Amino acid sequence: MHRPFVAVLSSGSCGNSILFRSNETSVLIDAGISCREMERRLSAFGTEAQDIDAVLLTHEHTDHNRGAKRFCSVHDIPVFGTEGTLALSPLEGTDAKTIERHGTFGIGNLSIHAFPVMHLAAEPVGYSISFNGRRVSAASDLGSLTEEVLKAMRDSDLVMIEANYDETLLMNGSYPVFLKRTIAGNHGHLSNEDAGRLCSEVASERLKQIVLLHLSKDNNTMDLAKEAVERCVTGDCGACPSVSPTEHGCQNGPFAL
Ligand SMILES: [Zn+2]
Ligand SMILES: [Zn+2]
Repeated sequence: MHRPFVAVLSSGSCGNSILFRSNETSVLIDAGISCREMERRLSAFGTEAQDIDAVLLTHEHTDHNRGAKRFCSVHDIPVFGTEGTLALSPLEGTDAKTIERHGTFGIGNLSIHAFPVMHLAAEPVGYSISFNGRRVSAASDLGSLTEEVLKAMRDSDLVMIEANYDETLLMNGSYPVFLKRTIAGNHGHLSNEDAGRLCSEVASERLKQIVLLHLSKDNNTMDLAKEAVERCVTGDCGACPSVSPTEHGCQNGPFAL
C-alpha cells in the first residue's frame, strides 16, 4: 500500500492534470495531456493507468480534456463531469457520468465535492476531495472569487489554486487588448493577487500547503506568483489577515497527505 499524495502531472495552457491518491482510491482531476504523456507522467509517480479509478473533468476546454477520450476508453476508466462539460467534450466510447454542478458524490473511499466556478465555459467546477479526515481543494480556470468558491475551499489541508497572471506583465504585455480584458475579466483567470487573497481567506490551522497552478508562460513567473501569495498569507499586502505559515510553490510534488 502506498502513502496518500497529490501530484501535478501538468499545469497551464499546455495541458492540465492532477493526480490524487488516497490509501485506497486514485483519481485524476482533468486529463489535458495526451494519453501517452499521461501514462508516462503517472509512472514517474509510481502509478499506472490501471490504478486510476476515475477522471474528474473541471470544464470542456482542450487544455483540460485533450487526453480524456483515449485514456478513459483504452483503460476503461469512468469520466465524471457536469452535463455542460460532458456535452462539449469529445468522449465517445467512454463511460461518462454526469455530476451536479454543486454536489457531493463518492468514489472508493473519497468524498468528492464539486462547486461552481466562474469561467468562460459551459458549467465549470472546482473539486474538494476528502478522505480519512483530510481534505484537498483544487480550482484552476476561475475568473473571480465567489463566496461559493471560498466556502468550498475552506478548511483544506492542501489548496491548489490558479495564479495565472501578474497584472503588470499582462497589461504591459503583447496580448491584444480584447484578450487582456478577457483574461482579467470576471470569467477569465485569477491573478497572483486574487490567488493570494483566496489563500488567506480560506486558510485555517489545517492548511499546510498551497500549490499554485496554471501560471501563464507569457504573463507570469514563478517568483512573482509566490511573492504575491506570500504577501497575502503573511498579511504584508496590508489587506489580508496573516495566516499560519505554509509551504507553497509551484512544484509538481508529490505532496504527502
Ligand atoms: Zn479554461
Ligand atoms: Zn485551462
